[in-house]
Amino acid sequence: MNLHSGAVLILSGPSGAGKSSLIKKISDDIGDYYFSISTTTRPIRKGEVEGVHYHFVSVDEFKEDIKNDHFLEYAVVHGNYYGTSLKPVKEALNAGKLVIFDIDVQGNTAVKNRLSDISTSVFITPPTLSELKKRLENRSTDSKEVIDARIKMAKREIQRVSEYDYLVVNDDLDVAAATLKLIAIAAKLKIPTEEINDFVQKWEDIEY
Ligand code: 5GP
Repeated sequence: MNLHSGAVLILSGPSGAGKSSLIKKISDDIGDYYFSISTTTRPIRKGEVEGVHYHFVSVDEFKEDIKNDHFLEYAVVHGNYYGTSLKPVKEALNAGKLVIFDIDVQGNTAVKNRLSDISTSVFITPPTLSELKKRLENRSTDSKEVIDARIKMAKREIQRVSEYDYLVVNDDLDVAAATLKLIAIAAKLKIPTEEINDFVQKWEDIEY
């Protein structure tokens, strides 16, 4: 893959960690970015908009996309398919943008395998499991069963936090946003190996 000058910021963490609020809060301060809108087979939630939060498709449509190699990565999360479409990501990277993903731990592994030298990953979480439970219950968009499943999933995911470059504990939204902003800006400054090699070659501009 020929990807110049763009960079990738992977955000993972349980639903209820405040990822969307954090992105909204830093969006004016991190320059040109593209937020990757995933495709999913999970039912649309109240308040969600097709093409804004996700592209909502049927299982058959999703499988067709897998067959046609349309995904940079995909995974089954909570029994539903979720995937990152390759084409808009490639376009954004070629345009030099910071591409932000909200994907799970499986997605983090897959993206890091494919785009390791331009990727920075962040795990975002509330300070404790009980705080996560409280936030999910207050959000009241999910049934008790769904909340239980998300909590179980969060307990599994937190075990893999060491696979991430950064951990942001979202206790105070302003503090967490300030930290994430710094990480996003640093992520854009990461230089792909290929560009470093080019730079070194050009830098040696005299015979010595
Ligand atoms: P939710 O259904 O709450 O929106 O998302 C459930 C989980 O799926 C979250 O952990 C979210 O990060 C993850 N997710 C969303 N889109 C993708 C995707 O394209 N790929 C992967 N691997 N995970 C995703």
